[in-house]
Amino acid sequence: MGATATCQPKVKGVPDASAQPTTDADRAIPGPLAGYTTLRTGGPAERIVAAGSADELVQAVRAAAEPVLILAGGSNVVIGDAGFPGTVVLVRSRGMRVIAEDATSVTVRVDAGEPWDDLVAATVTNGWAGLECLSGIPGSTGATPIQNVGAYGQEVAETITGVEVYDRVEGTRQVIPAADCGFAYRGSIFKYVDRWVVLSVDFRLTRSPLSGPVRYAELARALGVEVGDQVPLADARAVVLRLRAGKGMVLDANDPDTRSVGSFFTNPVLDRATYEQLLERSAELGDPPAWPGADGLVKVSAAWLIDRAGFAKGHPGEGGVAISSKHTLALTNRSGTAHTSDLLTLARTIRDQVHARFGVTLHPEPVLINCTL
Ligand SMILES: Cc1cc2nc3c(=O)[nH]c(=O)nc-3n(C[C@H](O)[C@H](O)[C@H](O)COP(=O)(O)OP(=O)(O)OC[C@H]3O[C@@H](n4cnc5c(N)ncnc54)[C@H](O)[C@@H]3O)c2cc1C
Repeated sequence: MGATATCQPKVKGVPDASAQPTTDADRAIPGPLAGYTTLRTGGPAERIVAAGSADELVQAVRAAAEPVLILAGGSNVVIGDAGFPGTVVLVRSRGMRVIAEDATSVTVRVDAGEPWDDLVAATVTNGWAGLECLSGIPGSTGATPIQNVGAYGQEVAETITGVEVYDRVEGTRQVIPAADCGFAYRGSIFKYVDRWVVLSVDFRLTRSPLSGPVRYAELARALGVEVGDQVPLADARAVVLRLRAGKGMVLDANDPDTRSVGSFFTNPVLDRATYEQLLERSAELGDPPAWPGADGLVKVSAAWLIDRAGFAKGHPGEGGVAISSKHTLALTNRSGTAHTSDLLTLARTIRDQVHARFGVTLHPEPVLINCTL
């Protein structure tokens, strides 16, 4: 008896295979992985199982023969057309509980499969500040530490206190304190490493009806305040959702611009010499938007580089892919029937042309599974 019929993915924050969470081998879900990714590309897996709790997640990973792919919302993966030659474990654990609180803060423990935006909405409703600018980001809570999810001047590294993991090498469960997670811009010790399965994440949030100081100029403008001001949590969330929707950055089944992984490339972080070289090469175009960081490093807008290298919004590739008509950084499966190979061909063309024009190498933000750029 199979659970195939009841486990159809849905287009939402987390494609839903939770109808019958199970690790029972007889109830494995076959089928192409395209239905479990926001890009809607990716070939078949040998086996797909859904895990509805942290215990089931551990059991599923332990029981499966390698290779194993942990997949949650599928919003930050590019899976090759040949699919995945092993077991895919779908993270479908749900739940959130307060584990500590005092007069000024609340610490919540959130199961890995909890849809991220449901969590953000709940924190805003409860008057807990810290996640409001991360409204509308698709995917699961357990994936947020993987690339230190961030937007509009906030990132999860600021509020995560610990990440509960199953260590596939040691075969143990443990909580890794935030200080040991190696959080960096769109990175952590968890990204590109198969060792840890995130079971739950702890966030320490501030009891406050107001957001943290608004750090992002575009958001401040849209809110009608100055950078550094605070606004009601619900206002921050509403305006972030509006700004994101205008860029195709909130999943919408009716909007082909959202059939993407969000930003395909990270903003390159350049050392001083490379940055100076870029300024020389872009002199007649004006300076690219840039954000100075620690140790003389400078983060530069990838969208600007791509646009000035000749790729406007809506630029089409072969096979039904295109740059989003709303955001230069998002590569989309515009037709809905494109292949991963088509998307990667467009990505390579962009990367190579940006390098030829500006001497800067763009790197992909999503995790590439069984395919390369
Ligand atoms: C329209 C759109 C907008 C986006 N906007 C943003 C944005 O503003 N900021 C941002 O940072 N990101 C953004 N993203 C990227 C993406 O939503 C986030 O990275 C999100 O956290 C991915 O969650 P997921 O559950 O979909 O992960 P998946 O895509 O399922 O997995 C991503 C990676 O994490 C691993 N993984 C997932 N869950 C676990 C787990 N429990 N344990 C171990 N490994 C795990 C997977 O193996 C894979 O390597 C956007 C994506 C889209 C489609």
